[in-house]
Amino acid sequence: MPVNRALFDEVMVPNYNPAAIIPVKGKGSRVWDQEDREFVDFAGGIAVSCLGHCHPAMVNALTEQANKLWHLSNVMTNEPALRLAKKLTDATFADRVYFANSGAEANEAALKLARRWALDHFGEEKNQIIAFHKGFHGRTFFTVTVGGQAAYSDGFGPKPGAIEHVTFNDLSSLEAVMSDKTCAVMIEPLQGEGGVVPGEREFLKGVRELCDRYNALLIFDEVQTGFGRTGSLYAYEQTGVTPDILSSAKALGGGFPIGAMLTTAKIAEHLKVGTHGSTYGGNPLGCAVAEAVMDVVNTDEVLQGVKKREQLFKDALHAINDKHNVFAEVRGQGLLLGAALNENYQGKARDFLVAAAEEGLMVLVAGLDVVRFTPSLIIPEADISEGMARFERAVERVVRAQQG
Ligand SMILES: *Cc1c(COP(=O)(O)O)cnc(C)c1O
Repeated sequence: MPVNRALFDEVMVPNYNPAAIIPVKGKGSRVWDQEDREFVDFAGGIAVSCLGHCHPAMVNALTEQANKLWHLSNVMTNEPALRLAKKLTDATFADRVYFANSGAEANEAALKLARRWALDHFGEEKNQIIAFHKGFHGRTFFTVTVGGQAAYSDGFGPKPGAIEHVTFNDLSSLEAVMSDKTCAVMIEPLQGEGGVVPGEREFLKGVRELCDRYNALLIFDEVQTGFGRTGSLYAYEQTGVTPDILSSAKALGGGFPIGAMLTTAKIAEHLKVGTHGSTYGGNPLGCAVAEAVMDVVNTDEVLQGVKKREQLFKDALHAINDKHNVFAEVRGQGLLLGAALNENYQGKARDFLVAAAEEGLMVLVAGLDVVRFTPSLIIPEADISEGMARFERAVERVVRAQQG
């Protein structure tokens, strides 16, 4: 039986349309497909593979734990989960952690906690959740409804209620709908899927002040921005704003599925025994890997390295743009970067992704108009220059096709 892209259409639900190539092996920031074609990885599995592929620290942690203990359920706790939670609380504003298996589940827990906190303190009326247009929070029905793209939540019957959307980076649009009924505001400090759009400093400060004024919880969705991606362990550290609840996933496990919701002791109290849970959440394998990832990522060396690589990426993208004039703007923070296409290439981000793959480079898009880069946080400089050489050839392909 040939295992190829055609088999996907035979046996998989058609909710994805993956590329024709099937990678079989990765090391650092290089990946090889079934034909042994080699790729430079600027995608990092969508901001997940923060230490590249098969980093020895992760492989060791996983193999060691795999030979010790895989699973217990939450009837019992385990050492890796407790060690990881201790490190996360030591390193952040938070005092308590809830473990899940994905970003959506971490956000689901955050939203349920916020609703329960508001109910306990203020009663049933305080249930409004406000989020932002183009925001993305996952695909469970609650989180996708809080997300700011109705197209993702339409067509599944009645939605969870009392959810409002306002404009990102526009404080007055938030102020207009906020009231004592607002239970929480959920926001990405830098919108990832929505086009790599940083939240402005004054805006984020204003959001915090409005939450304080109306006794609403501020939830930072750091699933994409977190775990070193923007050059600090979490992006909030650079905003001057501290959230009440923070969700983390993606890079947290470096490629092993794990999510976490972080909050203060006072708020956490409201998730009493039996109110929420998960069979796998906090399992020893995921927590052992995440602990190993954190030991590497949460160091000056890696976090400052992110800033240095940010500059290398931005310089290379500007140089390509000086020659080929395809971007209106290069934006983002750390290694969550977006090249927004100029008016001549609107709607064509996918063409750049396809051309890059043909040149042996994996990149991402964020919407129709932005090429997105979320490589390993420790990508070697040689791989950055080789990847950018390939990207330039990809840009040339698109420009040629455009000129017909
Ligand atoms: C990817 C992402 C999610 C969803 O995470 P999953 O692990 O796919 O459930 C939620 N929020 C943000 C900001 C994300 O980028």
